[in-house]
Amino acid sequence: MGTRPLLNRRLDGLGTTIFAEMSALATATGSINLGQGFPDTDGPREIAQAAADAVLSGRGNQYPPGPGIPELRTAVAEHQQRFYGLTYDPDTEVLVTAGATEAIAAALLALLEPGDEVIAFEPFYDSYAACIAMAGATRVPLTLRRPTFRPDLDELRSLITPRTRLLLINTPHNPTGLVLTPAELATIAELAVEHDLLVIADEVYEHLVFSGAHHPIAALPGMRERTVSISSAGKTFSFTGWKVGWVTAAAPLVAAVRTAKQYLTYVSAGPFQYAVAEALRLPDSYFETFRTDLARKRDLLSDGLTAAGFEVFRPQGTYFITTDITPLGEKDGLEFCRSLPERCGVVAIPNVVFYDNTDAGRSLIRFTFCKRDDVLSEAVARLRQL
Ligand code: PMP
Ligand code: GLN
Repeated sequence: MGTRPLLNRRLDGLGTTIFAEMSALATATGSINLGQGFPDTDGPREIAQAAADAVLSGRGNQYPPGPGIPELRTAVAEHQQRFYGLTYDPDTEVLVTAGATEAIAAALLALLEPGDEVIAFEPFYDSYAACIAMAGATRVPLTLRRPTFRPDLDELRSLITPRTRLLLINTPHNPTGLVLTPAELATIAELAVEHDLLVIADEVYEHLVFSGAHHPIAALPGMRERTVSISSAGKTFSFTGWKVGWVTAAAPLVAAVRTAKQYLTYVSAGPFQYAVAEALRLPDSYFETFRTDLARKRDLLSDGLTAAGFEVFRPQGTYFITTDITPLGEKDGLEFCRSLPERCGVVAIPNVVFYDNTDAGRSLIRFTFCKRDDVLSEAVARLRQL
């Protein structure tokens, strides 16, 4: 095969995702997996039943329409109206994707030219770096710094150049748990309008906010025509394996994203789309119970990690807690996470892999709390032995 590397230069160094590495380690060592963010309890039974009924009654077993089934596009539009007062046309302004992951990929591949710059909060969710690279664009990190991880918006302003095409924001933010305030969103929106930038808003944790509220940037003045909002059923309904996500945006943006999406998967997960359409129409009580339940788990794990000696950065949203291992006499999060299963049978994620400026994240590690209470308690008991 000659000497040329098989993997192209754009993907060089991206290797295996940390989630795959750490979940494999959890399985191999029989550890408690507080690494990859997936619940150990499935979502509502009636929604699972709706998926089973769809399969057995032949709904969605053959290629559904490329943009997604009309029932789901309508349910997504209704959801945006119900929770945020945002109006989208289900036919031209909503696109169903294979999870938020495909929505992110399709949006970046559709909207970027090689050489464009994308400013994203660092630590960034790992698929951002990969997809920006696949688009031939350059990522420009705005580092969120401990202890609050609030973005420095003067720094954001200073990072904008004539090559900046897009701001990629994520609120609530994985892995720090940061939730952007209305004032922060307003400043980001003003910068986007002033510099004529596009915005991709990854809002997959929109229903997991414990302090304050989730505010979509698309609702702000001048933002509707430049924002691609992305969400997913995985987090909100605890069916991460179904991989049903969606985009809402103005018609020209959806048309662009759809063009890329058509050639990535064309379409996905027919029967699950019927079930997710039902899930989006669950009563407010579902969303409230989901959030209060997770808020309690957040407290359980935060208190436990503090007692075990970690410095804990209490998240405002998401189901992740970022911690610092320095008080335990440790410095290197990657090394720590690789040895943790053997030392005490627990798996966590080293935040450093989400940074370009690795010094800012070296001693930070992330735990998820979307697990049963007894599992969280047992993990804490093990960590206290460190
Ligand atoms: N964005 C963020 C910030 C995430 O944490 C995740 C995790 N799953 C995704 C996107 C991907 O979502 P999905 O599983 O729907 O592809
Ligand atoms: N979003 C999940 C997390 O942050 C993982 C998703 C994945 O494995 N790609 O843990």
